[in-house]
Amino acid sequence: MILVFAETKDGKLKKNAFELSSLASKIAAELSTQAVAVVVGACDQPQEIGKYGISKVFHYDNSSLNDFDDYAYRDVIIGLAEEIGAHLILLSHTAIGKALCGRLSVRYKADCISAINGLSVESGQIKYIKPVFSGKAFAHYSSSAERVVASLIPNSVSFSAGEGNAEVENRSDAVERSAVEIIKRDVISGTVPLPEAELVVSAGRGMKGPENWGIVDELADILGATTACSRPVSDTGWRPHHEHVGQTGIAIRPNLYIAIGISGAIQHLAGVNNSKVIVVINKDAEAPFFKAADYGVCGDLFEVVPKLTEAFKRFKAEN
Ligand SMILES: Cc1cc2nc3c(=O)[nH]c(=O)nc-3n(C[C@H](O)[C@H](O)[C@H](O)COP(=O)(O)OP(=O)(O)OC[C@H]3O[C@@H](n4cnc5c(N)ncnc54)[C@H](O)[C@@H]3O)c2cc1C
Repeated sequence: MILVFAETKDGKLKKNAFELSSLASKIAAELSTQAVAVVVGACDQPQEIGKYGISKVFHYDNSSLNDFDDYAYRDVIIGLAEEIGAHLILLSHTAIGKALCGRLSVRYKADCISAINGLSVESGQIKYIKPVFSGKAFAHYSSSAERVVASLIPNSVSFSAGEGNAEVENRSDAVERSAVEIIKRDVISGTVPLPEAELVVSAGRGMKGPENWGIVDELADILGATTACSRPVSDTGWRPHHEHVGQTGIAIRPNLYIAIGISGAIQHLAGVNNSKVIVVINKDAEAPFFKAADYGVCGDLFEVVPKLTEAFKRFKAEN
């Protein structure tokens, strides 16, 4: 039995819950076992997860669990895993997943394999695939333990919605929150969060300074895209850390990734090379990013980007 921990935000299942569910149900079918999910806290439509191959979802709809609490969530998930005899607990490698992965594996006496980007079945055994050397190679792990807890890097596998709803079992078990108290909450609002964004406009050190970001924001606005940046840009405080993509930042898989004044170092590519279409704007024809690009514009970004924005504006006005 595979147990998927499906994350929610504002009472809705997150994209990574669908991604995990698709992967888990595919692996479960190959192993002739079942994949079920657990949702903790408020969720409007937990049955939706059925469109991604999950037959049953356990919903712990307890208001004290609406805010993430690593100890309380750990206890809920382990209680259920013990009850249903889960051999594999699958999480997303998000901030929440990272907080839970180690805790779950210690309490559940399970092997912990974190930050995988895929699973496969070979000779009846699950192989856990992990990117190594900044995504240049893949290591295949297997486990002889009876129980494994694994976390999947978001946007690692493609998935699509099918038909049908999952059976929902509502749980009203009393759960105690830990002593951890939420004192302050800073929520980024206004745009689609990077891990879920379909369109991303990203910029790097070629922008020269934070005062020049207006042209990036304008392009992102006209496209309805989320903004991102390279690591040195967030390290120097030109942009906030939550925009940093790459090996040590957020891994994304949008339909369109526009990279402006970014060289395309391997550590940057590790987080963005799963994008469907990559457009690179760089004045250096030798910039490594051009090798990974579907479309490249070799030119000065301060000329190219405003022209691109104008072209999108015209296109929008005419269509
Ligand atoms: C362990 C480790 C982890 C790392 N993790 C990450 C990570 O997660 N994400 C990440 O991004 N980096 C990461 N890095 C850093 C990475 O190696 C690069 O240094 C970084 O990505 C470079 O950022 P950049 O492309 O913005 O800047 P630069 O390398 O300085 O490139 C700027 C680019 O802008 C172009 N340019 C300049 N002016 C213009 C102009 N007027 N018009 C058009 N183009 C112009 C230049 O030709 C150049 O290609 C990591 C490094 C290490 C060692």
